[in-house]
Formats: sequence, C-alpha cells, structure tokens
Amino acid sequence: IMITVRKLKLTVIGTDEERKQGYKFIRDSQYAQYQGLNLAMGILSSAYLESNRDIKSDTFKNAQKSLTNSNPLFEGIAFGTGIDTKSSITQRVKKDFKTSLKNGLAKGERTITNYKRNYPLMTRGRDLKFMYEGDDILIKWVNKIIFKVVLGATKRKENSIELQHTLHKVIDKEYKVMQSSLCFDKNNNLILNLTLDIPYTPKKNFVEGRVLGVDLGIKYPAYVCLNDDTYKREHLGSINDFMKVREQMQQRARNLQQALKLTKGGKGRTKKTQALNRLKDKERNWAKTYNHQLSKKIVDFAIKHQCEFINMEKLTKDGFGDKLLRNWSYYELQNMVEYKAERVGITVRYIDPAYTSQTCCICGHIDKDNRQTQEKFKCTECGFELNADHNASINIARSEKFIK
Ligand SMILES: [Zn+2]
Repeated sequence: IMITVRKLKLTVIGTDEERKQGYKFIRDSQYAQYQGLNLAMGILSSAYLESNRDIKSDTFKNAQKSLTNSNPLFEGIAFGTGIDTKSSITQRVKKDFKTSLKNGLAKGERTITNYKRNYPLMTRGRDLKFMYEGDDILIKWVNKIIFKVVLGATKRKENSIELQHTLHKVIDKEYKVMQSSLCFDKNNNLILNLTLDIPYTPKKNFVEGRVLGVDLGIKYPAYVCLNDDTYKREHLGSINDFMKVREQMQQRARNLQQALKLTKGGKGRTKKTQALNRLKDKERNWAKTYNHQLSKKIVDFAIKHQCEFINMEKLTKDGFGDKLLRNWSYYELQNMVEYKAERVGITVRYIDPAYTSQTCCICGHIDKDNRQTQEKFKCTECGFELNADHNASINIARSEKFIK
C-alpha cells in the first residue's frame, strides 16, 4: 500500500450566491476546527502537566479517554455541517501529542502543538465524490457544495497529464480517497490536499536483469532494444509526421512574427500577438500528445518483453552526449516514460550518454569514425556492422554507468 498526497486547485461551482456561501462555509468550518483543535490539545496538555508529565497517570489517561465527540469542549463551536470535524480533531490531537512525546516533549525539548488559524480543514475521504462532467472533473462534497478541479493549474505540463491519469483512477475507484484536507494558499486559491491509497503493483512476470535500452533520436524518435536478446528491437514513432506539422507551425509563427515587426501598435498588434501565443500553445500541445503516445509505446514494449528496467540516456544541456539534439521535448518524454513505467513496477535508470553511439557493442571499441553515416555503424576495429540506432540502443541497454 502506498499513500500519496496530490495538491489540486479547486473552485466552487454554482450561482454567485452558492459560490460565495460555499467559500464562506469552508472558511467558517476551518475556523471552528482551529478552535476545536487547540481546545482539545489544551485538555491533553494540561492533564499532562498536572500529572507531572506522567502519561501513565490516571489524570492523563482519563483526559485522553474523555476526548471523544461528546466532550463538552465541543459545545458552542459551530462546526461545518456534515464534515465530522470532531472525530478528525480528536484523532489528530491524540496523534500529534504522541508525536510530540516521541520527539522530546517529555524531556522539555519540545512545546505543545499550537494549531494555526489556517490549519487545513480535514475532510473524510468518502465525503469527496469524484466524477466527470464532460471534460471537467467535479467533486461533490458535503453541504451540497460542488467543486471543479482546475486542471492545467500545475506549471509543468507532464504533471498535469499525470494528474489527470491519477484522477481517472480515483473516479474508477482504483485509487481510494483517504482523509484529505482543504485550505487556501497565499493567493487565496482553494487547494485540496488529496490523500490517496494507491494499490502497490508488485513487480511480476519480469525476466530478472532484463533491460530495455531506449535510444532517443531525431529520425526515429525512439529506438528500443533488449540487453539480452538484441533481436528484440523496434523503432517507435515516426518523426516525419511530427516534423511536418512542426515545420508548418513554425513557418506560420515566423510569418506572424514578421507581420508583428511591421505592425506598429494598437489593435492589430494585440491581435497578432495573441495569434502567435495561441500558435505556440498549439504547438506545445501537439508535442505533448506526441510524447504521450510515444512514452506509452516504449513502456508497452518493456511490458511485453518482461523488462525489469528501462535505461535511458541522461539528458544534458545540448542533448545526449555526443548527439546534439535540440528542439524537441525529450525531457517531457523521459518524464512520461518514468511515471508510466513506475506504475507497472518497471524501474527507470539514467545512464551516462557519453559515447553510446560511437562504441562498438561487440568489441567495445570507441571511435568517432565507427559512425560512418547517421544510419550506419561500422566498427573500425572489428569490422562489425549494424544500424547505428540499434547499436546505440544495445549500448544503452547494457550500460552500467548510472547517473542519478
Ligand atoms: Zn568492434
């Protein structure tokens, strides 16, 4: 079992009034919880001090026992309807007190927990009901409040893709929603700290020590090959389609930029700037989709051939080692491979990219001249010949020069 927390940006949906009431409900409930937490902690800490820091004393034990939902301390606090804040508070406080003790409260090294005004509002997992509505993901919560998940809120695109996958599994009930919390960040955005119980996928059906080497390139976006059975190889994806669309988009961008230079200002300029930005977004999305498909193909190949590991070259500033590769989102691709592989229990390792394409996979001889053309590898030492990408992918699969 693996517990993970994902931060989701939310908005309350509904009429203006419903939204206003929704946010108010959250803030009021958060305030009530804050009061309750400190009062409950006060009961434990005063009993603790009263009993001369003896947690085995009756005084302390009784105080601990008294911390239930029916404790009078909760009377007069307006907890949010339907959230079951009392249970969350008593559990939280007991747990935090225990932690403080463990961390040196008994030795006076630590003071008693003081909960802040903005302590996130705890909510039960079962009160968060995730569902699709068109392209949106909604969450039905208590008090008839409905949230919409703001997707694409994360800066890095690959995170956003992964998030959608994760939420899909939540909706499919593959992942279980555990106790989570709501809070407002410093920009006043509503944030859900979503705690998930992700079933651990045990490694299974792999051939021990089998590695898939992934050679990323231009002509063939990815050439994959096994370390132990080098006949099992394939080039995945076609760069031709990708480049064609890309070239068209870049040409249009150049035209727009040219037009911008000639446009002095005013409405025309704004319009053209907007068009340029839209084009950039579009291009970006295209690459993302492409990477999405390609990473899936790579991981599927590894699954099909029961690989324990996937080896990829560590991306440097200019590309991969002796290959100068710019202009393409390799970083994003590698990230996608990484998380998709991880989910099925395949470990991704990064290796030193130096000389992977200049080394002979048979005799190990390194020579720039081994690479006769972009496509052909011929060893100047032993005469071995092979498709250059195939040779490189074998070297990558067999490399043990791991880089963190
Ligand atoms: Zn050789």
